[in-house]
Amino acid sequence: MLPIRIPVPAIFHSEEREAPFDECLVCEKALRDGSTEYLVEKAFRQFDEFDVRETVFEYAICLSCHLEIVESFSDLSRTRCEDYFDEHVDLPERAARLFAPQSPADHAGEDADPPNDARLHPPATGSPPVDVDDWLDTCVVHGTPVDDLDEYQVLGHCVGDELVLTHLPVVIGGTAMDDLTGLLSNETLDELGGFRDEYFGLPPELKQDLSGPVVA
Ligand SMILES: [Zn+2]
Repeated sequence: MLPIRIPVPAIFHSEEREAPFDECLVCEKALRDGSTEYLVEKAFRQFDEFDVRETVFEYAICLSCHLEIVESFSDLSRTRCEDYFDEHVDLPERAARLFAPQSPADHAGEDADPPNDARLHPPATGSPPVDVDDWLDTCVVHGTPVDDLDEYQVLGHCVGDELVLTHLPVVIGGTAMDDLTGLLSNETLDELGGFRDEYFGLPPELKQDLSGPVVA
């Protein structure tokens, strides 16, 4: 199945720049020339009582820089993270569900006009419409609805100005991030600590919560 691509939705834009990311955090390579593949990771906290969501950190990283970081992880950390996802996430099921053709009944009662909702982007001719919110409505590991998560991260795979829909993008809730962090070796945690210090310079009370580029 060919991946569907849609224009990069706002949730994967840089909040700081109020625009799509345009360079790799690490090598500063231009990302929007249309041929460079990159990942966008953003972490949010939300405060129900104030109906507020804040971005804790955000970055885009090209796939070659990302690969270097993943390769810097210890074998133990990589194996444990892979096992964790194998155990908790059924990616084929996820893909089948997300890409399932929608029956007309799914849209019964909706406006019959072509959707002009910004979340809906017509994919290639002949394919059903997709709504990226379907990819991002629950934690990929625990199934917790995003609205019920105090903290979560989103991860998306982009090429140029487009987001590629595969098993990504995903939401990973705070609990699952904690699980993953707990699986990392001390060596890997040191690597990630170095990454955070170098690129984010966050206050210490925030640093301990952040895992950095663990998954892709
Ligand atoms: Zn790079």
